[in-house]
Amino acid sequence: MKVTVIGAGLGGLCLAQGLRGAGVEVEVYERDRDVHGRFQGYRIGLGDLGLDALRACLPERLHGLLDATTGSLSGSRENYGPGLEFAGSRPPMTATAVDRQVLRQLLLTGVDVRFGKRLSAHQVLDDGRVRAVFADGSATEADLLVGADGINSAVRAQLSPDVRPEDTGVRCVIGRTPLTDRFAALVPGFGAGVSDGEVMLMIGLMRFRRPPREAGAELGVTLPDVGDYARWVLMPAPEQEELSPRDTVLAAIEGWHPDVRALVEAADPEHTSWLSIRVVRPGARWPLGPVTLLGDAIHATSPSGGNGANTALYDARRLRDLLAEPGVNLLDAVDTYETAMFSYGAQAVEHSVAALDQFLPGRRAA
Ligand SMILES: Cc1cc2nc3c(=O)[nH]c(=O)nc-3n(C[C@H](O)[C@H](O)[C@H](O)COP(=O)(O)OP(=O)(O)OC[C@H]3O[C@@H](n4cnc5c(N)ncnc54)[C@H](O)[C@@H]3O)c2cc1C
Repeated sequence: MKVTVIGAGLGGLCLAQGLRGAGVEVEVYERDRDVHGRFQGYRIGLGDLGLDALRACLPERLHGLLDATTGSLSGSRENYGPGLEFAGSRPPMTATAVDRQVLRQLLLTGVDVRFGKRLSAHQVLDDGRVRAVFADGSATEADLLVGADGINSAVRAQLSPDVRPEDTGVRCVIGRTPLTDRFAALVPGFGAGVSDGEVMLMIGLMRFRRPPREAGAELGVTLPDVGDYARWVLMPAPEQEELSPRDTVLAAIEGWHPDVRALVEAADPEHTSWLSIRVVRPGARWPLGPVTLLGDAIHATSPSGGNGANTALYDARRLRDLLAEPGVNLLDAVDTYETAMFSYGAQAVEHSVAALDQFLPGRRAA
């Protein structure tokens, strides 16, 4: 069996690692010109769903590196007023903090990725196989084509053309600030939310157990040279003036505690940007065949749910498990995968949309 994966994001690479480990022939095609093609380095939180999937798919020799290059998140999420006066806390939680760029590079280890290959179309052939055609005119054939090509998926556009990204109308600024003791003190537990009742600045920390580059070098794995940082997000009220992303946030938190303002002022401008929140709801199933989808390509969540990567990694693990079964019938495996994925994928999207409100205290009060 040969599997072609479109998209070297977290989901596609996790699947490729898992298939490779199970002895299934797999190749990955990615539109970016190389691994540094786009900034991918925001912090995400993984729970057991995502972490177990990673451990199941990565070779054992990389498990220690995975642990070393993540961070632990535990405790309650504290809420504060604009002057940092305590305003209550949420029940304690635990998760694992992961830098997306570090994880992506770790997942690339040993996987055959062809960069600079943008899928433009696919065709199911008479013999039941599938041909993927790329923008540069080249093509490849496989027994199964997996679209792991993210929210604007070209595979989905052909397979399920009625399913399109939906704009929630919410835009946020996401920023990153190198960590100092002053900024670390803002987040004593799992995370912190600072709010004046109109907008909320959510702050979370990325503290690596070991510097990724150093830990990777010991195993001959090249990982980014990134230090600890604070990741913060604010969804400005729609009427708030749009300056640069950082200045928009500074205008929204005018008069707030100096430590909070200093966090935003010290942001790394290269890693601070606007983000429009869109989701993809799975919709109706397409006819069963040798083409399927995983991750954001079929169930893109709002970041407020903290579950998009977890669900994409879980998809990868499930599909790997089904395809690696001895004597597997390919279409039965795809059918079983899609039946469950459509259900839990839709739930993941709804959960993330419901969680959007907590970032928008002004809208909730209106
Ligand atoms: C700010 C933010 C915070 C988040 N926080 C969390 C969190 O805490 N927890 C969590 O679980 N999730 C979180 N998420 C969601 C998570 O990042 C995504 O759900 C996850 O990365 C999706 O992985 P994927 O592999 O499906 O898609 P992607 O990572 O988007 O990968 C798709 C890949 O396909 C490639 N591609 C696209 N089109 C083509 C084409 N035509 N041909 C070839 N290649 C193509 C792209 O270049 C890309 O490399 C967050 C997301 C954001 C934006």
